[in-house]
Amino acid sequence: MVLDRIEQAKARAGRSEEVRLVAVTKGHAADAVEAVIAAGIEDCGENRVPELEEKVEAIGRERISWHMVGHLQRNKVRRTVPFADLIQSVDSIRLARELSREAERIDTPIDVLIQMNTSGETRKYGFAAGPGDETGEALEQIDEVCALPGLRVLGLMTMAPLTGDASILRRTFASARWLFEECARAVSGFEARHLSMGMSNDYEIAVEEGSTMVRLGTVLLGERGQ
Ligand SMILES: *Cc1c(COP(=O)(O)O)cnc(C)c1O
Repeated sequence: MVLDRIEQAKARAGRSEEVRLVAVTKGHAADAVEAVIAAGIEDCGENRVPELEEKVEAIGRERISWHMVGHLQRNKVRRTVPFADLIQSVDSIRLARELSREAERIDTPIDVLIQMNTSGETRKYGFAAGPGDETGEALEQIDEVCALPGLRVLGLMTMAPLTGDASILRRTFASARWLFEECARAVSGFEARHLSMGMSNDYEIAVEEGSTMVRLGTVLLGERGQ
């Protein structure tokens, strides 16, 4: 059903590129990941380090790729890297530098997305990005992350404000898509593979506005226990 809705949203926007589905399994037991794998989904996401570790230990790395989607503290970098295929939540230059140092230490590049705070809400993590990025400030910061030697920057991630107002959601996602395309054009080292946006409440609008990766928990797995 979710997959149909994604296809319908793509069709409404005349889009043909692939939209990846990341099942966000936080707050569910490892059984939920087994169900996700059985459904043919190839990516799952967690937002807390201990839960990521626990599930990876139960399920393994081979059958699904693991995404870290929640805020990552710098002192947990070393512990997290061995469990994550993609860290979507690089939300500060200091975290980016720590990850790059770790990549050099283990002599393996780390795949990341840069988290943008496109909603302007001060409580949200991420690099600041105003609509249209008039000052070019966001581009400058993304450029700085892309210049770090240890990271492979594969795109951007963002979270929309919690609102039912479709026009605000649409504007937020459209400005993230604009920034994604600007980065593809202007930032060297930026690989424009993933624009991760869209959660249970807003994924159809996100897909209409150019998301290439949605992160879905509740609509796939039901309400979380914790
Ligand atoms: C929990 C979470 C999701 C999924 O949220 P739902 O509303 O349950 O779909 C997506 N992205 C991030 C970063 C999350 O923390």
